[in-house]
Amino acid sequence: MRKVAIYGKGGIGKSTTTQNTVAGLVEMGRKVMVVGCDPKADSTRLLLGGLAQKSVLDTLREEGEDVELTDIRKVGYGGTLCVESGGPEPGVGCAGRGIITSINMLESLGAYEESEGLDYAFYDVLGDVVCGGFAMPIRDGKAEEIYIVCSGEMMAMYAANNISKGIMKFAQSGSVRLGGLICNSRNVDNEKEMIQEFARKLGTQMIYFVPRDNDVQRAEINRQTVIDWKPEARQADEYRDLARAIDGNEMFVIPSPLAIEELEKLLMDYGLMN
Ligand code: ADP
Ligand code: MG
Repeated sequence: MRKVAIYGKGGIGKSTTTQNTVAGLVEMGRKVMVVGCDPKADSTRLLLGGLAQKSVLDTLREEGEDVELTDIRKVGYGGTLCVESGGPEPGVGCAGRGIITSINMLESLGAYEESEGLDYAFYDVLGDVVCGGFAMPIRDGKAEEIYIVCSGEMMAMYAANNISKGIMKFAQSGSVRLGGLICNSRNVDNEKEMIQEFARKLGTQMIYFVPRDNDVQRAEINRQTVIDWKPEARQADEYRDLARAIDGNEMFVIPSPLAIEELEKLLMDYGLMN
């Protein structure tokens, strides 16, 4: 089983990209579990057709320790298994701990066992790794393969660079590796070339360039992935290609993050020249 975590700045498109890609993997016959690691608990909405899911933390709070797999894991699109970690009560506690509580609970309930037949577990993780809690999936070896969703916007690249610092730190003592950047386009000038160069400087690859397309939002309003909502859409093929790229990926590296000056220079060279 491949244990994949998707990181990136808030609002960059992690949950959307993860679920749409997972739909592509499902079409390829892969069996996938998606674990939402964002207190927003919206990582599985498009696969489940709505926010039907009660989070692991809420379930624990309401039902105590006597929890069964079916209480926290729902079956979604194409047989995907969907879990939401959930978050602490607002203003109390650390969301990162919730992630570990959830993963530990899934482990103890046997969700990762061979008999479950999983090809992939995907973790959709909030934000950058500045908060130690959100680094837990990579620190404790729960996720081994990281993809960072970013765009050509400065703050998205800044977050991607920070996340790379976290990966570098934990890769030296563990098995976590960076599998690539997923550019989720914001239609920034020279975006593809800039992110390709950014990836090269980090020692990784831009594994895919996902165009911006309003079909993503149209599908979202219908609580579906694009593949589910409109299988013949051009954007559905983009996600199928991304799924294939991840499925066939063989480039896993310890990244070399950029100094802030290098990052700024990259933005100037590609962005502000025109
Ligand atoms: P995150 O999980 O990183 O916080 P989301 O996946 O919730 O971000 O995405 C934020 C918004 O961006 C969503 O409303 C989604 O519809 C939109 N979005 C994401 N990717 C695309 C895209 N390629 N084209 C158009 N809209 C997109
Ligand atoms: Mg999200």
